Amino acid sequence: MAPQAKIEALLKPAAAEATSTKIADLQAQGLVTFEDAARLDAVAERYAVAVTPTMLGLIDKADPRDPIRAQFVPSALELQQSPEESADPIDDAAFSPLPGLVHRYEDRVLLKVLSVCPVYCRFCFRREMVGPGGEALVGDNLDQALDYIRARPQIFEVILTGGDPFMLSPRRARELTQALAAIDHVKVVRWHTRVPVVAPERVSEEFVHALRADGVATWVAIHANHPREFTPAAQDAIRCMREAGISLVSQSVLLRGVNDRLDILQDLMRGFVALGVKPYYLHHPDLAPGTGHFRLPIAEGQELMRGLRRTLTGVAQPTYVLDVPGGAFKAPLDPVYLQETEGGLQLLDGTGHWHDYKG
Ligand SMILES: *Cc1c(COP(=O)(O)O)cnc(C)c1O
Ligand code: SF4
Repeated sequence: MAPQAKIEALLKPAAAEATSTKIADLQAQGLVTFEDAARLDAVAERYAVAVTPTMLGLIDKADPRDPIRAQFVPSALELQQSPEESADPIDDAAFSPLPGLVHRYEDRVLLKVLSVCPVYCRFCFRREMVGPGGEALVGDNLDQALDYIRARPQIFEVILTGGDPFMLSPRRARELTQALAAIDHVKVVRWHTRVPVVAPERVSEEFVHALRADGVATWVAIHANHPREFTPAAQDAIRCMREAGISLVSQSVLLRGVNDRLDILQDLMRGFVALGVKPYYLHHPDLAPGTGHFRLPIAEGQELMRGLRRTLTGVAQPTYVLDVPGGAFKAPLDPVYLQETEGGLQLLDGTGHWHDYKG
């Protein structure tokens, strides 16, 4: 089977049938033991499961703590939900005037164009909304969303998300791009996607060209969390987008057991920069249900950020952010480098020493 056909086979069946098949598939791959399979069926009944052949191929099966496995293979720990966790941790619903549209910040809107993903990340903050059974933004709902954008000249940027908007066909991607480019005040169309890394074969030249249109700048935010995800095929996909004149930024989630070490984050950020992708956000994990095992203390995240600042080029620095529960805003969690003293100000250097500044 061609890789594409395999992915479709993994995505296709309705959620209820797919779940048991998929755990069985993972069992057949040697990634789930017979004893665990029953408990993981319970996880898969609640949260969608899919792993692409590319990601399966990266897992070191001998390592139970493999960082790629941790991101995609379900764990019984997901059955533990704590009271502070919620199905809609950043309360998109409160900022959603129409189906599929979230308008939280005045000059930009999110369009959730479809709910499928090529993989289902175990830490996903939209895990209760994404999955193979969900709906796509089509027909009247899409027309209404476009009308909403057309009627509001303050909307400068449209962010396409989902699910994963790179799961659209090239034809639908082109139609959407053209429709947005035809709106005078929309100057930027930004796609948020994990496809270039987890299913790079989908990033065909035809698809990449479908993202471009006169009158708008196309930006793509690429989600990757571990340097091993930059396979040769992923590198080609990223290169293809750059050559088409698309501006590229990164998006990663800081995850316990995946990338919570300075050397891994260094390689990840350098990996992006080497491919011409500007590191943009390092997200603190949201309070999505059953994801407590991925979260680390914010102070630990800040210590890692200090390490990146000390060791990497300025171009490789992401902003560490947290979406405040309740959906108020995305808060930067930058470590503090400046403090007020009686005599003036002090600044912290990379080795932990404070320097006076009088100015
Ligand atoms: C995060 C987010 C954005 C994009 O924010 P940027 O800081 O511009 O990347 C837009 N809309 C919503 C609702 C968001 O949560
Ligand atoms: S690709 Fe994005 S939306 Fe899809 S499961 Fe992963 S984090 Fe969630």
